[in-house]
Order: sequence, then structure tokens, then C-alpha cells
Amino acid sequence: MASILEAEFKKAYKQVLESQNIYIASHVQPDGDNIGSMLSLGLALKKLNKNVRLLKSDEIPSDYMFLPNIDLIKDYDNIDEIDLFIALDSSDEGRLGKNKDLLSKAKTILNIDHHISNTDFGHINIVDHNASSTGELMYDFIKYMNISIDEDMATCIYTAISSDTGSFMYDNTSAKTHEIAADLIKIGIDKRNININLYQNKSLERTKLFIKTMDNLELYFENKVGLAKITQDMLEDCNAKMEDSEGIISFIRDISPVEVAILLKEFSNNEIKVSMRSKRYIDVAKICSNFGGGGHIRAAGCTINESIEEAKALILNEIEGLFR
Ligand code: 5GP
Ligand code: MN
Repeated sequence: MASILEAEFKKAYKQVLESQNIYIASHVQPDGDNIGSMLSLGLALKKLNKNVRLLKSDEIPSDYMFLPNIDLIKDYDNIDEIDLFIALDSSDEGRLGKNKDLLSKAKTILNIDHHISNTDFGHINIVDHNASSTGELMYDFIKYMNISIDEDMATCIYTAISSDTGSFMYDNTSAKTHEIAADLIKIGIDKRNININLYQNKSLERTKLFIKTMDNLELYFENKVGLAKITQDMLEDCNAKMEDSEGIISFIRDISPVEVAILLKEFSNNEIKVSMRSKRYIDVAKICSNFGGGGHIRAAGCTINESIEEAKALILNEIEGLFR
């Protein structure tokens, strides 16, 4: 472990021991890494007899409802005593959505994340962009605290890591990632059940949305850029929800000539959430940061407050220079 990180682990553990009321928050539009990380750390801190609460910053996608103790993530009213606020997988305060306001009430903020664009907004920052996932950092931190990882915690960490590594396929997957996964398997997780829930559980509505979206795929710059849109009308036609768009962006990136995949999700007529992925050489975190977003080099996002057509024009204009 790098020494700077070790010093932060030490401070974080000391702070955990000194705190009683601990809140752990998800980011908006939480993903498998975020939800799995929250649950694993929450369960671990409960073993230390802490008063731990897992804050819901947004709806939990149905994909993750199979996770043990998922009901622990919920809304809380009248929160006043926050000894320790732990933000997970959130590159900046804005990612915390409605729970951002709680930061000012917290005695101490612990920021644990693996985004290259993290702003180090905590009093203590365990930020390692070489970690495949926040789940990987959870494994290290829980071990550091000498808490034994049980099957439920292992299931949540495995889900977190698998989600953020594209099932152990992306460049961020290291030898250490596999070693951690091996240890989680030894603990006795039901790997098959996790994989079926994460990857082989698509509803017919989701399938219809996939077909409709791919049918309207647009290709630019000699097929190096693949772009698709999901509008509210399309969701209605398919009786689907925006969370059913999960997986579409990876499919676009997986098309042979495509280097950059772009998915424009219309949440409302002037709120377009953009997802971007790249395969080999384009830094999509940098592109998204020009629109106030961020993420990782190969997976990033931003929100554009324009119509979907205008958002598309802005993005294509922004990336055009990269493909000349
Ligand atoms: P997704 O496309 O799956 O929503 O997000 C891909 C990655 O980019 C995730 O790691 C996510 O945290 C990050 N990301 C997505 N949207 C935003 C955003 O608006 N701001 C920042 N800072 N990061 C984002
Ligand atoms: Mn993550």
C-alpha cells in the first residue's frame, strides 16, 4: 500500500473508532460499485457496534435489489448528530445530490473514491485512481480495521468490483483485483447467483429499449464514434425506465471500429445525462470535464441542460478535433 494512502487509512480508522453516529452516502444514480461499497462498509462498521446509517441519494436500480441488507439504504429525516460522514465513489460534493447539504453538519468527512477527477473534498481522503473500484478500497479498509469479511460483505464487495471492471475485463483490473476476488470466492460467495442477477436478468422491457436504441444508432468520424439517444418517448413506448439503459453504452463501445461510445439520456426536455466510454486512447473524463462532469479515462459522464439535439451538437463539436 502506498504510504500516503496508508496514512489516510490510519486517520480514517482512528476517526471511525472515535465516532458513534456514522452516515454513509451514495451518489446520484448509484451503480453497483457504489451500492456494494456502501453495504459492505455499513455491515463492517455495525460489527464495531457503531450507529451506522446508509443514506439513499437516489433510487436504487432493480439490478441491485438482490444484495443482502439492501433495505438498510434508505431516507432519514431530522439528521442532526453526524460524527462521521462517509462519501463513497463520489468524485465531488455535487455527486451526493440531496445529501450534499449534510456535509456542513458533519464533524468529519471521509471521502473514499477511485475517480481520477476526485476533488479531495473530505477531511480525510482515501482516493486511489489505480483502484479498480471503490469496492476494492472497501476490501482494503475493512481488512485494515481488522474486521473479518463475512459472506454478505463479500457478496457486496464482489458486486462492486465486478460492476466497475466490466466483469474483470477493463484495464483497471489488476492482479490485486483478481487476488481480492479470489479471497471473496474463498469466503463462500454464491458467484453464480451474483452473476445471474447482475448480467443475466434483463427484463423484456429492457430488451425492447435496447433494440429500439440500437436501431437508431448513429456513427460519426469514420465509425470511430457511436452515439445513441434515449428519450422519454422511447421509454414510454417500451414501458421501460431510464435504469433499463444499463448495458447499452458498453454494447456501443464493443462495436469493432468504435473508439468512443456516447449515450444521451433525456431525463427531461432540458436535462440530458451523457454517458461516455472509450476503448483505447481517448480520455473521456477530460471531454466530460469540459461540460462540468468527470469520471474515469475510459468511463465518464456529465449533464447538459439543453435539448437532446442541442446536447448532441455540443458534444460532437467538442470531440470533432480529436478525430481529424
Ligand atoms: P455513467 O456513464 O455510468 O453514469 O458514469 C460513468 C462514470 O462517470 C462513473 O464513474 C461516474 O461516477 C462518472 N460520472 C458520470 N456522470 C458524472 C457527472 O455528472 N459528474 C462527475 N464528476 N462524474 C460523473
Ligand atoms: Mn466506482
